Amino acid sequence: MIADAIRRIESELPEGVSLCAVSKYHPAEMIMQAYGCGQRIFGESHVQELMKKYEALPKDIKWHFIGHLQTNKVRYIAPFVDLIHSVDSTRLLSEINRQGIKHGRRIPCLLQLHVAREETKFGFTVDELREFMLDGQWRDMSGVDLQGIMCMATNTDDADRILEDFHKANEFYRFCEECAGTHFKIRSWGMSGDYHLAIREGSNLVRIGTMIFGERIY
Ligand SMILES: *Cc1c(COP(=O)(O)O)cnc(C)c1O
Repeated sequence: MIADAIRRIESELPEGVSLCAVSKYHPAEMIMQAYGCGQRIFGESHVQELMKKYEALPKDIKWHFIGHLQTNKVRYIAPFVDLIHSVDSTRLLSEINRQGIKHGRRIPCLLQLHVAREETKFGFTVDELREFMLDGQWRDMSGVDLQGIMCMATNTDDADRILEDFHKANEFYRFCEECAGTHFKIRSWGMSGDYHLAIREGSNLVRIGTMIFGERIY
């Protein structure tokens, strides 16, 4: 049951750790079941799908975008998105900034850090992101509010390896926090299979789909 899963996960999360319920590919009725037991943060990874759900569902839902975002689609979600987890290039960030200014808001964003030992995952490397932070051009972006780091661990059963990935992200977060100051506050890591490990390594926002809604049908 969706409500049971949410309650169980919520009861396990330490103080200060928030839950983003990843509802991608799941219908509005299932989101409403989660909404009914108080869940308000939902994560989606496709613009079209997010738009439909945004229009159909209660307006106090906080919609998080967690998938790879194409530059030409930013404008569709810019007016309402609560947090973009997956900023993986400076080009994308510039477009989010442009759209934020256009809509008179600072769009909250996380920088996606690539820590997994897999070629396929999106995101900045530690070196790229260090350069980006030090360069400081992001300070002039009045349409963006950089709030933290997002990452995904290597897809493996090896807990030590997953912990290493999260540890790397956690260490690097501190460096970024020093650069950015008080605005930096979000460490988005941990999914259904690894959120306990993520919390041990400093996560304060877990993104959980399967454990709440069941398997996704693509
Ligand atoms: C789908 C997805 C999740 C949720 O994964 P589950 O294993 O279903 O909990 C979390 N983060 C991102 C970026 C995703 O794309």
